[in-house]
Amino acid sequence: SCILYETNICSSDSLDTLTVPPRSNSTNILSSLETLPLDGYFSFENNHHAARDFGNMYHFLPSAVLHPKSVPDISTTIRHIFQMGSASELTVAARGRAHSLQGQAQAHQGIVISMESLQALEMQVHTGEMPYVEVSGGELWINILHETLKHGLAPKSWTDYLHLTVGGTLSNAGISGQAFRHGPQIDNIYQLEVVTGKGEVVTCSEKQNNDLFHAVLGGLGQFGIITRARISLELAPKMARVKWIRVLYSEFSIFSKDQEHLISSENTFDYVEGFVIINRTGLLNNWGSSFSPKDPLQAREFSSDGRTLYCLEMVKYFNPDETKTMNQITENLLSKLSYIPSTLFHSEVSYAEFLDRVHVSEKKLQAKGLWEVPHPWLNLLIPKSTISDFAKEVFGNIVMETSNGPILIYPVNQSKWNNKTSLVTPDEDVFYLVAFLSSAVPYSTGTDGLEHILTKNKRILDFCATAQLGMKQYLPHYNTREEWQTHFGSLWKVFLQRKSAYDPWAILAPGQRIFQKAI
Ligand code: FAD
Repeated sequence: SCILYETNICSSDSLDTLTVPPRSNSTNILSSLETLPLDGYFSFENNHHAARDFGNMYHFLPSAVLHPKSVPDISTTIRHIFQMGSASELTVAARGRAHSLQGQAQAHQGIVISMESLQALEMQVHTGEMPYVEVSGGELWINILHETLKHGLAPKSWTDYLHLTVGGTLSNAGISGQAFRHGPQIDNIYQLEVVTGKGEVVTCSEKQNNDLFHAVLGGLGQFGIITRARISLELAPKMARVKWIRVLYSEFSIFSKDQEHLISSENTFDYVEGFVIINRTGLLNNWGSSFSPKDPLQAREFSSDGRTLYCLEMVKYFNPDETKTMNQITENLLSKLSYIPSTLFHSEVSYAEFLDRVHVSEKKLQAKGLWEVPHPWLNLLIPKSTISDFAKEVFGNIVMETSNGPILIYPVNQSKWNNKTSLVTPDEDVFYLVAFLSSAVPYSTGTDGLEHILTKNKRILDFCATAQLGMKQYLPHYNTREEWQTHFGSLWKVFLQRKSAYDPWAILAPGQRIFQKAI
């Protein structure tokens, strides 16, 4: 019988970079992989790239990397490992763009599946009353944007950065400034094709195999590998433009009241986000800022005279022939807000340019060698009822002097989110996403170094726990089974049942470190 072990394996991990070479006792099992009939291929050497991710803090070397050319390549491989049961210690991690932060897309001594190799499967756009696009699980959102725009359509819900794979963001949630209205990306999916931890290929949706469908969405890769997704679309004319607005506040309470007001109505902006401007900023603070120098949207550069400021960011989509109406609508919406009057920054850019905005900063940082530094990010979901306590202590004390990167903060409506998925959120109608997107200066022992930032992150987490703010981590990372159990709360039992049903040997996504394979 199959036994599922829950794990404490990470308790001995150091926070420092950890590189562990594969053991050699699995040679026979590895050579058995070479006999599998595949359209793609395995590589057994030079796989160091698969031991890296965006976080750049954890490095687990796999024994092999599969470059699949077809879905059967993935199912054949997983079925082979499943059938070996406890005779093999091999685990399998799907690797999208590896923009994970703590090794979640890695497999220590296991098999990493390079999902981008599946991109060869063509995207299919279906027009009609309920338009959708069918894509491979390894497809990048940026490619989906360009392909769907050719048909005058686009997905409804995005992430701030589009060079991520569909399988990667759907395993988490996919949250951005549209999520208050449409829910996260996981709530805008009609159908998935999944390869389970038993190697079975299953099509699932709200109507068909719905338990697996809900399990996989936000399921941290624990129940199956997403090989295809059917994503719902909305109208987005090819020539679409956006009005992009930023305004500043010096009082958190007024800022958050305005944000909550904007997301409470249907007649509002298409996108609502915000960020905190800490007066003294770290070296790498500007990666999220992508406005040109003369543009009034240089809100981030606004002289804050030593104060902490809060920037509300809003966007309205429009067609070029609707400029006048759009201006009237935005003026009306802005007239209800209480920002500092002299701080209205606005510009117009194309819809695609707006959605791909972070890539501009990525290219700049890459050119300076600053994209591949350690990223000790911390993403939290904080209930509306405790956000002011959070802001007072965190922005008013813990990160008052310095921040090591952008701090995003914006509310969303739980009522627009599907509560059947595996995603864990606070138990309140409105909650905030607060993202500390820190970059560390390599080898620095100062306030811009990794240890310092991790200590600050821990202070924030400790405060949330002691003050009982009802916080849940987004892109969660925990060290013990107890912490995972607390994270899932009442959902833990279901999560465990689903793991036994769909991945009983705990083969999949070992880098999340929730379960350990029984051997
Ligand atoms: P990976 O890191 O490759 O994988 C993530 C997890 O999913 C791993 O456990 C992996 O094994 C599993 N996985 C990967 N592919 C599949 C698959 N096909 N089937 C099943 N499991 C799979 N998130 C937001 O919600 N909103 C944002 O605005 C946002 N902005 C970001 C900006 C940047 C610059 C970065 C680096 C990250 C951002 N993220 C954001 C976080 C991002 O959504 C997650 O890190 C996501 O996992 C990245 O996708 P990926 O393709 O790189 O996944």
